[in-house]
Amino acid sequence: MTKEKINIRGGRQVEMMRRAGETASNILQQVAKSIKPGVTTKEVDEYARDLIARNGCKSAFLGYRNFPGNICISVNEEVVHGIGGPRKVNYGDIVKIDVGIIRDGWVGDNALTVPVGTVSPEVQRLLMATEESLHTAIDHARHGEMLGTLCHSIEEHVVAKGFTVVREFVGHGVGRRLHEPPQVPNYGKRGEKPRLREGMILAIEPMVNEGTARVKVLADKWTVVTMDRKPSAHFEHTVLIRKGDPEILTPRPRLTF
Ligand code: MG
Repeated sequence: MTKEKINIRGGRQVEMMRRAGETASNILQQVAKSIKPGVTTKEVDEYARDLIARNGCKSAFLGYRNFPGNICISVNEEVVHGIGGPRKVNYGDIVKIDVGIIRDGWVGDNALTVPVGTVSPEVQRLLMATEESLHTAIDHARHGEMLGTLCHSIEEHVVAKGFTVVREFVGHGVGRRLHEPPQVPNYGKRGEKPRLREGMILAIEPMVNEGTARVKVLADKWTVVTMDRKPSAHFEHTVLIRKGDPEILTPRPRLTF
């Protein structure tokens, strides 16, 4: 794991992150509601662009290493980093929406997977297991806990449900920059350093595949797909480490079926 110094945030910095997180969450939930059969992912991206502007924010993704979208929209076999385009959303699809915004210089980052209408029981299980694994990890996001234990808990939960975690893409510290130390993989060794401290802020984001864990990047240089083209799910929160219970800075209701 990374040896770079992990930022500790306090006081006003935490308040700014809380505001950025709440805004990111509100935008994510509104975008999620706009996902309907027949809509193109380009239309969803444009809707998100307008919402971000209306909230006085900037996209944290647009232009990041030349990423061309305002948000990431990834359908079915697309894991993460999908770019809005002509693809139409169909009934029975799952659509991953990842919203990262900058508000007053601070970043809020969060993601969820939207089932479009009724999805198959296996895909329902995939979505449930992925969101559960996120909350299992958040339970470990406490002052004094080891990061390796948090990371390990994600894979342990996912594998017990019969699914696999993506290894090439990971969660991260977040603050003034979208990606800060440490990396937060969705696998790890129990008890491995670094030790979590009050004031650290992590974007925890399990990416979970129904079939093989293996993924590849498409010719657009961004869109990550599963090698077997089976579905993948993604849920993410920005989380503040505290003594006692962690604080989810991007609060939203959990998925229900
Ligand atoms: Mg993230």
